Amino acid sequence: APGLTLVSTPIGNARDITLRALDVLAAADVLVAEDTRSLKRLMEIHGIGLGSRPCLSYHEHNGAKMRPRIMAELEAGRSVVYCSEAGTPLISDPGFDLVRAAREAGHAVTAAPGASAAVTGLTLSGLPSDRFLFAGFLPNAKGARDKALAELREVPATLIFYESPKRLGATLAAAARVLGDRPATMARELTKRFEEVRTGTLESLAAEYAGAPPKGEVVLLVGRGRSADVSEEEIDQALDEALEEMSV
Ligand code: SAM
Repeated sequence: APGLTLVSTPIGNARDITLRALDVLAAADVLVAEDTRSLKRLMEIHGIGLGSRPCLSYHEHNGAKMRPRIMAELEAGRSVVYCSEAGTPLISDPGFDLVRAAREAGHAVTAAPGASAAVTGLTLSGLPSDRFLFAGFLPNAKGARDKALAELREVPATLIFYESPKRLGATLAAAARVLGDRPATMARELTKRFEEVRTGTLESLAAEYAGAPPKGEVVLLVGRGRSADVSEEEIDQALDEALEEMSV
C-alpha cells in the first residue's frame, strides 16, 4: 500500500522480526534505512532480495537533505519503508521529522512494530512496569547530565536510560548521588549470546562497574524513589518503631 511504514528490526537476534515486517520489506517500492548495510544484511538473512529497488540512507546527518527525496516517492504513490539501525525506529533514533512531514502531507503512515531495547530491558528488570519514563541517552557533559538527572528526581516511575558501557560506572555513581540509592537494573546485550541482567541498587552497581566497563550494549533501569515505593503499612510500622525507640 502507498505510504510510509516504520519497520522495527531486531536488537540483536536476527530472528526477532515479525512475519509482517518481512512481508512489508519484501513488498515495499522504496527502502529507507538509517544504515543501509545492516538492512541489506538483515534482508539477506531472511531471503529477501533488494532487486532493483532503491535503498536510500536517512540518518541524523542527512535527514534534512533526504526528506524531500523520500517525500517525492510518497507523492508518487509509492510504498516506502523506513528502518533504523536496530530496534524500533525513532526510539533514540532518527525519523520523527520524517513521520511528521509524511503526516502533514496527508500520506498514510503506519508501523510494523517489534523489538525495542527499552521495553525488553523493562520487562526483564524486575522493577515496577506500571509506569515508566524513557529518558534515552543522558547528556555527555557532567553538568548537563546531573541537571537531567535532577529533573527526573520526582518522577514517580521506573526510569529507563540508554548508556554506553564506558560511561556506565560514572552514570551509576552520578545517579546514586542525584537520585539517591534506588533499586536499579543493568541489562546488557539483550537477545544476544552474552545477554546479562544484573539487579542491585545504584550504589551497588556503581561499585561493580567503577573502572570496569561491561562489554556491548546497555540499558539502565532505575526504580522510583522511596517515597513512592513505600506502602502505608511500611510507613506506619516505621513510625511505630521510631516512637518506640523514642520512649525507651
Ligand atoms: N531504536 C533502538 C531501540 O528500539 O531500542 C535503540 C537505538 S539507540 C541508538 C542504541 C542504544 O540502545 C544502545 O546504545 C543501547 O543503550 C540500547 N540497545 C540497543 N540494543 C540493545 C541490546 N541488544 N541490549 C541492550 N541495550 C541495547
